[in-house]
Amino acid sequence: MPHHRDADDGLAAEAASLDAADPLARHRDAFVGAESALVYFDGNSLGRPPRATAERLSRFVTDEWGGRLIRGWDEAWMQLPFAIGDRIGAIALGAASGQTVIGDSTTVLLYKLLRAALDAQSAADPDRVEIVVGRDDFPTDRYLVEGIAAERGARVVWVDVDTSRGVDADLLRAAVGPRTAVVLLSHVSYRSGYLADGPGLTAIAHEAGALVLWDLCHSAGSVPMDLDAWGADLAVGCTYKYLNGGPGSPAFAYVASRHQHRLVQPVQGWMGAADVFSMGPVYRPADGMRRFLSGTPPVLAMIAMQDTLDLLEDAGIAAVRTKSVALTDFAIRVADGILSPLGVRLASPRDAAERGGHVTLSHPAMRAVTARLWRDDVIPDYRDPHGLRIGLSPLSTSFIETLTGLRAVAEAVRAES
Ligand SMILES: *Cc1c(COP(=O)(O)O)cnc(C)c1O
Repeated sequence: MPHHRDADDGLAAEAASLDAADPLARHRDAFVGAESALVYFDGNSLGRPPRATAERLSRFVTDEWGGRLIRGWDEAWMQLPFAIGDRIGAIALGAASGQTVIGDSTTVLLYKLLRAALDAQSAADPDRVEIVVGRDDFPTDRYLVEGIAAERGARVVWVDVDTSRGVDADLLRAAVGPRTAVVLLSHVSYRSGYLADGPGLTAIAHEAGALVLWDLCHSAGSVPMDLDAWGADLAVGCTYKYLNGGPGSPAFAYVASRHQHRLVQPVQGWMGAADVFSMGPVYRPADGMRRFLSGTPPVLAMIAMQDTLDLLEDAGIAAVRTKSVALTDFAIRVADGILSPLGVRLASPRDAAERGGHVTLSHPAMRAVTARLWRDDVIPDYRDPHGLRIGLSPLSTSFIETLTGLRAVAEAVRAES
C-alpha cells in the first residue's frame, strides 16, 4: 500500500520536527521510564513519577520522619497542606494565597464543599434546593450529588449532554434558575476531554444566584485557569493525574476568600477546629482554609507532587497548554490519517479551544483493543461506550511517542475487528 506508507512517513517526519522544536522536550527526561519503549497514554489517570521524587521520598523518611519524629508536625508538616495548596493555587489555578488547601480524596472534598455550599445557600434562601450536575459527569460526582440531595431533601437537576462534548453555556442556562443552590461542573470532561468555558459558565450560574463548584481533576496541571478572575466560588481537583502526586495522593480544595467564613463543612474533626490542640469541649470551625480539613493530613502522600510543581513552575502553565494543544492536534491528525480509514471516530471536540489534554477515539472493538495494547506496553485507557482515551501529559509525552502509540492502536484495531 504505497499511498498509506507515504502518509505514515510524512507523520514520522512531522513528529520528529515537532519534538526537535519543542521547548518542553528537555523535561521528559525528568520522569522515570521516559527512556523505555513503553508508550504512556494515561498520565491523565496516573502521572508518571518524576525521578527526583525517589530521592525526595527517601530523604523524607530518613531525615524528616526518622530524624525529627513527632517534632516534624510543629516544625513543618502542619503547614504543608496550606503551603502546597498555595503553590498549586499560584502555579496551576490562578488563585491567590489562602484559598487552596490539600486535604482528603477528591471524593471527600467534593462532598464537604458541595454540602457546605448547599446548606449555606438554602439557609440564605429556603427556595434554593436544587443541585445542577451533568448526566455524563464522573461517577463519584454524580453519586455524591444524589447522596447529598437525599440527605438534605434537595433536588437533582440533571443536564443531558452529548457524550462527545460536555456542559456548555446553552445547556447550563436552561438548567439554572431561582431554585438553584449549587452547580457542579467539570472543567474538562473525563470522557470526551471537552473543555468547559470557566468564566462563562461561572457567570451564568452567578446570574441565577447559584454557587459553582468546579471539578478540576482533568485540567489542573494541564489547562491554565484563573479561578480568582473567573469569580469562581469553589473547586476541587486531583493531584495524582497531571500533578504526578502518585497513587492516592490527596486532592486540593479551593474556596474563594469571600465564602470561607460562611461555609461550614460536615466532617467536623479536630484538625478543622479553631484551636487544634486545646482539645476543647465543642467544635468551633477555624478561620480560613483550615476549617475545610478534618483529620490528620496525609503528609507522606503530599511529598511527591512537589517535584511536578517545581517542573510546572519552571516550564510555565501557558507553555504546558501550548504543548498540550500541539499534542492533541497532532494525535487528531494521526487519527484522521491512519485510524479513520479503519472506522475509528473522534469522540472529542475538534476545536482546540474546546479541548483539554486528552482525546477519545471511538470504535466498537476498543475494549479488546485496549487489552491487546496493554499487553504490548502501550497504555491508554478504556471508557464506555467504545472509547479509547489517549491522555497526553505535556511534560512527559513526546510527539514520536504519540505517533508510535497510535500506530499500535491501528494495528490492534485491525487485529480485533
Ligand atoms: C479522577 C476523578 C475523580 C477521582 O476522585 P477520587 O476521590 O480521587 O477517587 C473525581 N472526579 C473526576 C472528574 C475525576 O476525573
